[in-house]
Amino acid sequence: MIEFRGIHKYYSDYHALRGIDGSIRAGEFFSLLGPSGCGKTTLLRTIAGFEGIDAGVMLIDGKDMANVPANARPTNMVFQSYAIFPHMSVAENVAFGLRRDPRSKAEKAAAVEEALTMVGLKGYGGRAAHALSGGQRQRVALARALILKPKVLLLDEPLSALDKKMREHMQVELIKLQRQVGITFILVTHDQEEALVMSDRIAVMFEGQIAQLADPETLYRRPNSRRVADFIGTMNFIPCEILSENNGQIEVEAKGLGRVTLEADQAPPPSGEGEPVVGLRPETLTLLYPGQKADERSVKGKIDEVIYFGDMTYYDVFIGGTDVEVRLSMRNVPGRKVLEVGTEVELAWSPSALVLFR
Ligand code: ATP
Repeated sequence: MIEFRGIHKYYSDYHALRGIDGSIRAGEFFSLLGPSGCGKTTLLRTIAGFEGIDAGVMLIDGKDMANVPANARPTNMVFQSYAIFPHMSVAENVAFGLRRDPRSKAEKAAAVEEALTMVGLKGYGGRAAHALSGGQRQRVALARALILKPKVLLLDEPLSALDKKMREHMQVELIKLQRQVGITFILVTHDQEEALVMSDRIAVMFEGQIAQLADPETLYRRPNSRRVADFIGTMNFIPCEILSENNGQIEVEAKGLGRVTLEADQAPPPSGEGEPVVGLRPETLTLLYPGQKADERSVKGKIDEVIYFGDMTYYDVFIGGTDVEVRLSMRNVPGRKVLEVGTEVELAWSPSALVLFR
C-alpha cells in the first residue's frame, strides 16, 4: 500500500529522516514507535503530504507521491489535539469533512449517522461538541476522518490526552474499528505497550531511521539490537564469551548461566558495538518453589532485591558474577508467597529465550 525508498527529510540543516526504507501493507494496523524526536510525526506528515521529502521515493498504491498534494492523496489524518469545533454539534463536526461534497443534504446526513454508528456514537449527532468527554471527542474526530472513506487513516498520538483507563478502552475500540472498516491504519506512538497491543506490525525508529520493522512478537522475542530490546520492554543483558560458530549455531559461555548453544535466529547481525551479551527477558525467567522442576535449565542464585506489585513480583537474583531481574506473575506462585531478600533460590531459564548481541 505504501512504500518508502531511501527517504530523507531536512528541516533547514537538521536531518530529520535519514534513509527510510520499508513498506506498509494494505489493511494492516501499523505503528511508528520511537522516543521523542526520532521522526515519527515527520514520517507520518510526509505520508499525508503535509511535508515534502528531500530525497527518495514514496509510493502509495503504486503511485509516486512526489507531486501529489495532501488533498489529492488517499489518506486522512486524525490529530493529537482532536480539532473539534466546540460551537458546533457532533453531527456538524462530522459533516465538516463533507462541506465540499456535492451529495444532497439527506445523503450527507445518512453518511454522518453511518460514521457515528461506526465509532459507537449512534444518536449523539444533536449533542453540543463542547459537552463531550475526551474519549467521545476522540471518536468524533475519528468519525470525521472516516466519513471521507480514506484508504489510509493516519493517527498522530490520538490517545495521548486520555487518562489510562480511557486510553486502554479506546485502544480496544480502535482495534475493533480498524478490523471492521478494513482500511490501513498508521499510528504514531511513543508508548511501546500501546504499539504492541494494537499493531499488526511496528517500525521502531531511532534518530530518523527505522531500526527494526516487524510484528510485535518478533520485536519482543527477537529484537535485532540491544537498543530495540531495551526500548521494547525490559531485558537482562548478561556478559558472554563466544566460543564457536558452526553452521549457524553459536556456542557461548554466559556469566552465571554457563554454556549455551544458540540457533541462527537468536543472533541478529553483529553491530560491532561493545562486548557481546546475551539478552533474556525477565518474564521468561522463573524461580522454582519447593517441589517444582525446571522445564529446561536452572542455576542457583540468591535474592538481592524484592519489589512487590500485587499481581507481579520483581526479583533481582545474583547468579554468580551478575544480577538478573526476574518478573513472576503471582498466579504461578504456590500460595502466592513472596520470597525474602537473602533466600537461596533455583532460577529456571530456557536457552531458546536468549538473544545474542555482539
Ligand atoms: P514526538 O514524539 O516528540 O512528537 P517525533 O518522533 O514525532 O517526536 P518529530 O516531530 O518527527 O519527532 O521531529 C523529529 C525532529 O525534527 C525533532 O528533532 C524536531 O525537533 C525536528 N522538527 C520537527 N518539525 C520541525 C520543523 N517544522 N522545523 C524544524 N525542526 C523540526
